[in-house]
Amino acid sequence: MAILIDSNLCTGCGNCVESCPEDVLSIAKGKAVVNYPRECWRCGSCVYDCPSGAIEVDLDADNSIRFVEITTTNSNSDK
Ligand code: SF4
Ligand code: SF4
Repeated sequence: MAILIDSNLCTGCGNCVESCPEDVLSIAKGKAVVNYPRECWRCGSCVYDCPSGAIEVDLDADNSIRFVEITTTNSNSDK
């Protein structure tokens, strides 16, 4: 599972549900729950918007989007 919610930390505020661009999360019995994990594309928005640090998303999963620093070299630099 790529999404982990610590129910001890979750206050049920709903921020993660609101910030999710998909329909992955909802609130049930006062806590965030994962409904459709396969719809998660690991944007990290729910993690960013959680005020209590209750949610983690495995951003290193194989199908995640990765940001790669590209370094260019100037081939004329030693001329
Ligand atoms: S990482 Fe993005 S898509 Fe996945 S549950 Fe969080 S807000 Fe939704
Ligand atoms: S934003 Fe955090 S505290 Fe609020 S419902 Fe989601 S997981 Fe729980």
